Amino acid sequence: MTTDKSPLHEASGPCYRAVLLVGPPGVGKGTQGKMLSQIPGIFHVSSGDMFRELDRTSKFGQIFQEYAGIGKLVPDDITIKIWQDYMATKVREQTYNSKNDLLILDGIPRNITQANLMAPFVQVFKVIYMVCEDREVMFKRIRGRSLKENRIDDAEELVVRYRWDVYKRETEPLIDYYPQERIRIVDANTLAADVLYQILSTIVPVQKKYFEPPIM
Ligand code: ADP
Repeated sequence: MTTDKSPLHEASGPCYRAVLLVGPPGVGKGTQGKMLSQIPGIFHVSSGDMFRELDRTSKFGQIFQEYAGIGKLVPDDITIKIWQDYMATKVREQTYNSKNDLLILDGIPRNITQANLMAPFVQVFKVIYMVCEDREVMFKRIRGRSLKENRIDDAEELVVRYRWDVYKRETEPLIDYYPQERIRIVDANTLAADVLYQILSTIVPVQKKYFEPPIM
């Protein structure tokens, strides 16, 4: 029997088994996410991409533009609702299978309130904390990206700097929220392949231990 009910509502405990990607804007999460999403047995979700895929004329699409345009986070309750719907769709479409696929959550949760709201549904194995000490390197990357990807929130210098402050204030405290043994610091100020290597050295053991190998 098929049902329209989200599997989240039926969950008695965590059902999404995940690794989190945490890092400031411009640190290279997107580049890594794209590479990780090519790997069988990994399902990568970028909250920024999830929002950008919304129909711009829809209610949620408009709310997103309103907040992202000035560098603010979308309100937590709306963010989590959109994420839950997004995940339920991926389960229904069978693009994500929680038994076989390790979920990489990139950009969500973005603060402690979101982490608490998601906790009943998500088991967090590891938190990959991407670090780049040089702020200017990241601002430079964002400036480049704004031209290539036509992102309104990347074009304005003031908005970019504001997002950085939001990251420091709201997102970075997540690193103290999770148990320290789950945090893996990754140096992001190096070759993309080296960053990937560091990330894989954390997530491959998780895949091996907890997930069934995908049928190839
Ligand atoms: P970046 O990390 O480079 O700032 P993202 O693509 O992750 O860019 O996010 C772009 C915008 O989308 C954010 O500035 C914010 O408005 C919104 N956003 C993304 N993820 C979240 C989230 N988890 N909670 C609230 N807002 C979010």
